[in-house]
Amino acid sequence: MNLSDQLIDWYQVHKRDLPWRNISDPYLIWISEIILQQTRVNQGLDYYLRFIERFPNVETLAAAEEDEVLKYWQGLGYYSRARNLHQAAQQIIRDFGGFFPTTYTEVLQLKGVGAYTAAAVCSFAYNLPYAVVDGNVYRVLSRLFAIETPIDSHFGKKEFDSLAQQLIENSVPSLHNQAIMEFGALQCVPVSPNCSDCPLQVYCKAYELKIVEQLPVKSKKTSVKQRFFNYLVIQYNQQIFLQKRTADDIWKNLYEFPLIETDHLLTLEELLENNSFCHIFYGIEQVKILNISKPVHHLLTHRRITAQFITLQIVEKNESLKQFIEISNTEIGNFAVSRLVEMYLKKEI
Ligand code: SF4
Repeated sequence: MNLSDQLIDWYQVHKRDLPWRNISDPYLIWISEIILQQTRVNQGLDYYLRFIERFPNVETLAAAEEDEVLKYWQGLGYYSRARNLHQAAQQIIRDFGGFFPTTYTEVLQLKGVGAYTAAAVCSFAYNLPYAVVDGNVYRVLSRLFAIETPIDSHFGKKEFDSLAQQLIENSVPSLHNQAIMEFGALQCVPVSPNCSDCPLQVYCKAYELKIVEQLPVKSKKTSVKQRFFNYLVIQYNQQIFLQKRTADDIWKNLYEFPLIETDHLLTLEELLENNSFCHIFYGIEQVKILNISKPVHHLLTHRRITAQFITLQIVEKNESLKQFIEISNTEIGNFAVSRLVEMYLKKEI
């Protein structure tokens, strides 16, 4: 029995029963793959079910407003994935006559679809022999073959891609890909895998060499940028103010409270002297500071946000406030917001 057969045997016994398994609809597979990138299965499951209930096919997704798509994505993070899904659905309607593309090259043309997603969709939906190489696959292969080439290097990527492709050649592509990913997720886990009870132990070079915990190797440490957000929760009668993030930055097209970004969190004295703050409230006689939240730390992949929410009350408006969207307090649930703002709204901060 070859390695792929062993993996598939293990998979048939241990696989989790998930709604995107045993289906061949490329649209549903695509949605599940995009949701699951950088998201744990347990967390992704609810999002997937809600998403496909509202957008069960390419047509419904393409016809939706982007704001609504983002609202369904709220809390998942990586919002560019939702924007890309939406644009790709429109691309399928426009360029493929509404039919999900059926070749690897065509699937790869869809907005936001890279080699990994194209391989996953084409193998799961059409049983085409394209190997998926995600974090789980890197880990499993690096250990089974004791490969010490850094997985985030150019050479590492080529080496792992080529090895993964060789393994899938004489296999059933859909099963092989799902099996190796599931094996990485459940058996060959990052920390303390249960090697003594592993069906691939006899093949495993890292186990033999006692270097399991040292693999896979990464060359770079991700640098994390620190940013400081001072959010202004401005209350006026029963109204509050929001703005839409339109710049090419984190949380693009999501809504948030008016924001003053600084190189440290502002104290009350600094806030009152801050130019942006003075501009927003120019000419307003009474700006009452009701509360300043404790600093909250929010970690994204390459950024660490430290934020505070400053609640203020005003009894009159000025021209400057027209730059914001004025809504009633009760409407805020209709707007797609970041997890950070959501936590504030749920009083978790
Ligand atoms: S023996 Fe351990 S390291 Fe090797 S494949 Fe099995 S779980 Fe992974």
